[in-house]
Amino acid sequence: MQGLKAKRIGEITLYAVDDRNLADILKKLGIYGDVAAGRLSCYVCGRHITMQNIGGIFKREGRIRLVCNDIKCLYEAARLTARRRQH
Ligand SMILES: [Zn+2]
Repeated sequence: MQGLKAKRIGEITLYAVDDRNLADILKKLGIYGDVAAGRLSCYVCGRHITMQNIGGIFKREGRIRLVCNDIKCLYEAARLTARRRQH
C-alpha cells in the first residue's frame, strides 16, 4: 500500500501525478468521471486536466478547482488561495 503523497502549499493540496490514491480522492470529490473524460480544465491556464497532468486540487468560492502540474499554475493557485480573504 502506497501512502498518500500529498503536499500542501498554502491552501492547495498537491498530489504526485502517479499517485494511485488520486483516483480515489477524485471519486470522493465526485469529479473522477469529469477528469477521466477530460471535461475539466486548469483554473489558471485553461489547459485540459487529465489524470496525467493534474497538479493540485483546491477549494475556491465553495467549489473544487483543479490546476495542472505546471509549476506556474501551482504557484498562481497558491497565490489565489492565499489572498482569498481580501476579496
Ligand atoms: Zn495550468
